[in-house]
Amino acid sequence: MPPSVKVDVMRFLLLAFFLAVLAPPVLPAWSAPTAAGGETAGASLDSLHKRFDALRQDAKRGALRDNWLRLIEDLNRLSAQSRGNAKARTSFLAARAQEELSHRSFNAQDRIRAIDAYAAVAKNFPKHDLAPSSLYRQAYLLGAILGRTEKAAAVLAALQKNYPRSLAAKDGRALQARLSAGAEPAATRPPAAAARPPAAAAPGQGASSGRKSPVPRNRNGEPAPEDIMEQLGLTVRTIMLDPGHGGKDPGCTANKLVEADFTLDMARRIGPLLTKKGFTVLYTRTDNRFLSLPDRTEMANKKKVDLFISIHLNANPSSAVHGLETYYLNEAKTNEAAKVASRENGVSVRNISDLQFILTDVMLSAKLEESRALAQCVHKAILDSLRAGRWTASDNGVRSAPFHVLMGARMPAILLEFGYASNAREAQNLRTGAFLQRQAEGVAQGIAAYKEQLAKIAR
Ligand SMILES: [Zn+2]
Repeated sequence: MPPSVKVDVMRFLLLAFFLAVLAPPVLPAWSAPTAAGGETAGASLDSLHKRFDALRQDAKRGALRDNWLRLIEDLNRLSAQSRGNAKARTSFLAARAQEELSHRSFNAQDRIRAIDAYAAVAKNFPKHDLAPSSLYRQAYLLGAILGRTEKAAAVLAALQKNYPRSLAAKDGRALQARLSAGAEPAATRPPAAAARPPAAAAPGQGASSGRKSPVPRNRNGEPAPEDIMEQLGLTVRTIMLDPGHGGKDPGCTANKLVEADFTLDMARRIGPLLTKKGFTVLYTRTDNRFLSLPDRTEMANKKKVDLFISIHLNANPSSAVHGLETYYLNEAKTNEAAKVASRENGVSVRNISDLQFILTDVMLSAKLEESRALAQCVHKAILDSLRAGRWTASDNGVRSAPFHVLMGARMPAILLEFGYASNAREAQNLRTGAFLQRQAEGVAQGIAAYKEQLAKIAR
């Protein structure tokens, strides 16, 4: 089928899909703002408590970020109108709702908001019997979830000092014992020994040795014929590694793993292995800085790299879920893939429908087939490498989903989810250097295999 027909068919199918499946649930949302406002007018703490319980018990509605945000907003509004005991109880419930959201989103910003909310309850209502509980929840989130044991210890010390006879203080002593027993250097920090990428390869800086000059173009702006091979992506010289998240966006956090640290650690392992194989390696970031999703692909386009590899860590509200997933850009074929994309994109699953729709335009320039082939090579090589080292990771397969960070990339681009921080056993592997090194070697081998595959096609 000629490409244009293929594209038309794909557009039609996506449009039909959008109208048939996605549009109806979106419609009621347009009237949501007024509905939400009406809902709150006169809402009592009891009715909001019922909403809180209902959301906690309903896995489907509880999975939607919007539902929690609306509840938190309503609680905060009620708290502002209340006094004394009612105000304390409402504020505490708002903190709990924020915590529940954070256990579902695995978003560190959400965790920090919950920690702040508990701290505010303890500070504003020191005489209330919810104050010690607030300190305990605050310490629990800091220590057991974020792995910030020193900060947690300080909060627990305040709990012992100010409320020694409370039930929360008793729980606090048990938590402190647990944190002290499990205390270990933050496993997610890139090891000091790990080779830092050469400074010259940092984004925005040189590293152009061996790099082709901008593609010469004819009067129509088309590439000159001799560059067609390169334009077709039949060669791989330069690879951009994209450690996901960073700065104000720590990504997902669970079991002492912080995604932003993990992704940087992985990039530092993969980069030198690729250099050894003769590739030029560039990085979207080499320190803990924030970069927007479009900034990342833009960097890759500007540097005209041949491959774009985005590095991530997965999380799921169910702690049983684990395994390796490799993604390329396309519409999500399964709910699970849509959920991973919604988390990485920082939008609700419902908003994914908008991204699916935008895809019809993006797909015109995306290197879909190449990206899929690259994903398959890398995915297989990682599993092979792990197996050779007698590690196991479940094979969740190569999947497609509308990842914002892959949109607009003009080169084959994939997104790696190296495993689930939310699964305790897998998290333990993901904190182990030998396991990560195996995965990094797999990525380098997979990219080399993809390059070989291209060379065969070109011959
Ligand atoms: Zn991520």
